[in-house]
Amino acid sequence: MVTRQSPITVLQGVGAAKAAAYERLGIRTLGDLLLHYPRAYENRGDIRPLAQTHPDGKSAVLLTVASEPKAVRLRSRKSLLKLRAFDESGSCEIVYFNQDYLKSKFPVGSVYRFYGKVERVGKGYRMSAPAAEAWATGIPLPPYRAVYRMTDGLSQNQIAKDAEAALELLAADGEDPLPAEIRERRSLCTLSYALRNIHKPEDRASLLIARRRLIYDEFFTFSLGTSMAGRRTRSASAPACKWQEIAPLTDQLPYTLTGAQMRAIDEIRRDMAQELPMSRILVGDVGCGKTVCAAAAMLIALQNGLQAALMAPTEILARQHYEDLAPLFERMGYSCALLVGATPAAEKRRIKASLCEKDPARRLPLVIGTHALLTEDVSFAFAGLVVTDEQHRFGARQRATLLEKSEHAHLLVMSATPIPRSLALVLYGDLAISRIDEMPPGRQRVDTFAVDESYRERLNGFIERQVGEGGQVYVVCPAVEEEKDAGEVDLYDLLEEDAPVRGRAPMKSAVGHAEALRERFPGLRVESLHGRMKSREKEDVMQRFAAGQIDILVSTTVIEVGVNVPNACLMIVENAERFGLSQLHQLRGRVGRGKRKSWCILVAGDGVGQSEENPSRKRLDVMRTTYDGFAIAEQDLEQRGPGDFLGSAADGTLRQSGGLSFRLADVAEDGEILSRAAQDAKALLREDPELQAHPVLAERVREAFTIEEGLIS
Ligand code: ADP
Ligand code: MG
Repeated sequence: MVTRQSPITVLQGVGAAKAAAYERLGIRTLGDLLLHYPRAYENRGDIRPLAQTHPDGKSAVLLTVASEPKAVRLRSRKSLLKLRAFDESGSCEIVYFNQDYLKSKFPVGSVYRFYGKVERVGKGYRMSAPAAEAWATGIPLPPYRAVYRMTDGLSQNQIAKDAEAALELLAADGEDPLPAEIRERRSLCTLSYALRNIHKPEDRASLLIARRRLIYDEFFTFSLGTSMAGRRTRSASAPACKWQEIAPLTDQLPYTLTGAQMRAIDEIRRDMAQELPMSRILVGDVGCGKTVCAAAAMLIALQNGLQAALMAPTEILARQHYEDLAPLFERMGYSCALLVGATPAAEKRRIKASLCEKDPARRLPLVIGTHALLTEDVSFAFAGLVVTDEQHRFGARQRATLLEKSEHAHLLVMSATPIPRSLALVLYGDLAISRIDEMPPGRQRVDTFAVDESYRERLNGFIERQVGEGGQVYVVCPAVEEEKDAGEVDLYDLLEEDAPVRGRAPMKSAVGHAEALRERFPGLRVESLHGRMKSREKEDVMQRFAAGQIDILVSTTVIEVGVNVPNACLMIVENAERFGLSQLHQLRGRVGRGKRKSWCILVAGDGVGQSEENPSRKRLDVMRTTYDGFAIAEQDLEQRGPGDFLGSAADGTLRQSGGLSFRLADVAEDGEILSRAAQDAKALLREDPELQAHPVLAERVREAFTIEEGLIS
């Protein structure tokens, strides 16, 4: 029988070559294919007169064929098919290349919906190779057409066709994992309706209904998974750690701990003295000094003859922790290793072997690394403490693995995202919270301004001056590359009642904007950095920026958790309206770390305007007036819902690379669904802790927590 786990090669016309292309998109099974949700939709329902089509994107037009297609042979042995069609606003020449079979398709007088780029040519118009659908009165054509993330060897049509075929094949396997009671109470549609309409929406309403159900599912599964995993750890036991002096660590520091740091360390110390495993999250603004608290916790484990591990979401960050902490621990007599993806294989083997060494004299007590620490063959002889930094950056599967690995260890999580208590409960299950709400003395305030496009030239002048004085500049953009067409509409836009295609200001992309800045500042060293680069390349760029060899670093939010560059004094955020406040706050924390006076400039995209009434505008104003991460977090929750705490900017790449790897859910927008789903998950687990009465659901939870790729920027 065909199931969600069947390979996509069960589909007609999908052989080895197509399967290999699908593999590049992370799609192996029919289930994967159905989860490959469209990244956008062509808005073919927004039919416009030729005279009012988008100048630089695709549009839908409804044209009557005026002349039969004529074939023209070109010298290059290519053939060209030409026809004329018109609407009340003008006449359009339509051309196709090498598609002679279309010759019989367009009888004179018939009406077609064409979709594509409309160019102005003299007094008329031209479309090259538009999509064409016959228009018969009384039979409405679907208004939206899915646009998928692509790779070579596949076409949009192919994916759409395959997704439809997969849905058909799986119709028999149509069991809905969500308990019917919940589905009814929350007025959600069935799963099969949702999948059908997310790939091939009947209309806008169906698409929104489908989306709501799928988002609910993502949150529901997530909540079930984290609660179940969390429960397992808490029921286990961990070694109780006796308290000894941490002076050997603190005496080495050039500063004294703040009161907030001491309180946090005290809370950690008391947790670790128990035989119950600690599950604590340490929250505090960027730069408040969480690392040293983690170091104190690690020292406590080491003093008790146990091992400690510190895991960071990026190689850059892991390396920085290693460079900061290893010398401190070496001086106290504890050796420390760095384990990241790029660590040479032999070195990796050596580290892994010494981690599980029974002989304490040869055992490695301390390891710092990335999720490379989560691979199966890493095991600890006597794990006492596992620390993760910027936990919200890890995917669900990695969290689950982490919880498993640390089953008999204490767990400390650090996050620079100040999470309101109510939300922390949803996101982190039952972690105890320590807040560091005090900054080390002497920190400067980063002056913040919100501007729009009309300030562009002044802004450029400011960049020039800062670099001229020896400073360095960050520019953050919401997207990696331009990929959205002006005629396309993403789900976010559809949520706005009126004219969905109006969309939002076009997104600046890191690659494109870096190019523009290079042109504008030929004398400056401009580089881009984004999540699609190999980690070696990212590392290299970041290191050169840190070494002062790059003047302007144009990046996506991968630098959000980047290294400390005290010489950077200007943070510019493009399309700032696309980012959550907490995220902006974190970005701002990247500057003002050294002696240079520092600034943060938030550039609102076109259309956000200066109006006080504009909600985007208001949000940005919070940034100008508020410098306390917790206050910003509360504002964010009030204004937008819980999203920003998960680090989800509006851009799709971010949704994949950071955040909690939700496919569809935009936690910034869907906070209400999140809290309902979490509530329902908790209630269900109270009734049925192992989901015995819901085997399909239990299966889905297991699946979600194992198949998800480690998409970490
Ligand atoms: P974060 O909380 O963002 O991880 P870090 O732990 O990286 O912050 O600390 C930021 C910087 O502040 C580091 O350079 C660290 O040495 C310094 N720092 C930490 N605690 C103090 C303190 N009590 N007084 C002065 N500087 C401190
Ligand atoms: Mg940190």
